Amino acid sequence: MVIGVVKCTAENLVALVPQVAAKLIKDEYQVVVESGAGKSSGYNDEVYESSGAVISTRNEVLTKADVILTGTSIPKTDIDRIKPEALLVGKFNGRVESELITNLKTSRAQVFSLDLLPRSTIAQSMDVLSSLASLSGYKAVVTAADEFAGYFPMMTTSAGTIPPARVLILGAGVAGLQAIATAKRLGAIVEAFDVRTAVREEVQSLGAKFIEVEGAQEDSAAGGYAVEQSEAYIAKQKELIHETSVKADVVITTANIPGRKAPILIENRTVNAMKQGSIIVDMASASGGNCELSKDDQTVDIDGVKIIGDSKLYNQMGKQASLLYSNNIYNFLKYVLKEGKDKLPYDSEIVSQSLLKVERESTVSA
Ligand code: NAD
Repeated sequence: MVIGVVKCTAENLVALVPQVAAKLIKDEYQVVVESGAGKSSGYNDEVYESSGAVISTRNEVLTKADVILTGTSIPKTDIDRIKPEALLVGKFNGRVESELITNLKTSRAQVFSLDLLPRSTIAQSMDVLSSLASLSGYKAVVTAADEFAGYFPMMTTSAGTIPPARVLILGAGVAGLQAIATAKRLGAIVEAFDVRTAVREEVQSLGAKFIEVEGAQEDSAAGGYAVEQSEAYIAKQKELIHETSVKADVVITTANIPGRKAPILIENRTVNAMKQGSIIVDMASASGGNCELSKDDQTVDIDGVKIIGDSKLYNQMGKQASLLYSNNIYNFLKYVLKEGKDKLPYDSEIVSQSLLKVERESTVSA
């Protein structure tokens, strides 16, 4: 079976790094890689060749491979070249991507979007969202520390004592917990908030203070994700976040609700009341932002408060992001291909949740 890797043009990410390609080759797959696919993430063609992979053109990969691996997006011109019955694996923002679904109507490829995998124990080793969120949470703090014109830890010198920086993390999921751990390691005083009270203990075990608003709505049927909150709760929450933010030097926001616009947690009045030199990193900027004033993929300065809108900070760590992404893909392939490509485990949660549902046009033969 031929496994093909095409270049991801939207991100510094390659779906198979050379060392994971070597594992697939050892498992008796053939691996064909588009020339330059790994360049932006630090893996050149020669390293793939030494791992046993064959370097080829994009067209060859698309037309020959039985399984095609990529990153985030794939244009219709590529889909039309894929072999009928081929599997296409990536992370296509499956909850909102309607253009891809339309483009697939005339294709017989089966498309798996790994950002739709269940957040279950069995899928943990394939969980691309966790891999990338963890890197991003780390990078958010390092970026904020770099932008912040001061120490993170307390410094006692002969010329006086400098108090530690105060860091507030909003949303304590995978990215938020990594941000808490990183800010603590740098010596800051860290506070964190999440609507899911289940994370209280995790936050506290990392040494941060969990700030809490009573009356959060939680839903055990939401697969561990947050759900929308009542207006009364939102009003109380905004007040508490306002009071805590104005005392903070750095605020990192990571709050998301899958398939919906991100909740606004930092209002204009909060930014206006924050100290000059404070930093906000809005990691939910791609889904509308947690800060009213943030702009996706931009840094804005509002009277001395810098707001960095970046939902893809892992892009700045392309080599490691690609390694984790490749390992996730490897574990996914091992699971779905265990009985061969013609006997996929369709009744498993892993396949049924990650396989994009497409109504094929009648001209496409079954
Ligand atoms: P996410 O990116 O969807 O959201 C980030 C965080 O924002 C979440 O913790 C969420 O509760 C929080 N949030 C949402 N609305 C908020 C609001 N209004 N105010 C404050 N916080 C808000 O989350 P994620 O990091 O992808 O994790 C989602 C869930 O999946 C979590 O329960 C996590 O523990 C779970 N998970 C499970 C596994 C596993 O078991 N294999 C792996 C990873 C994650």
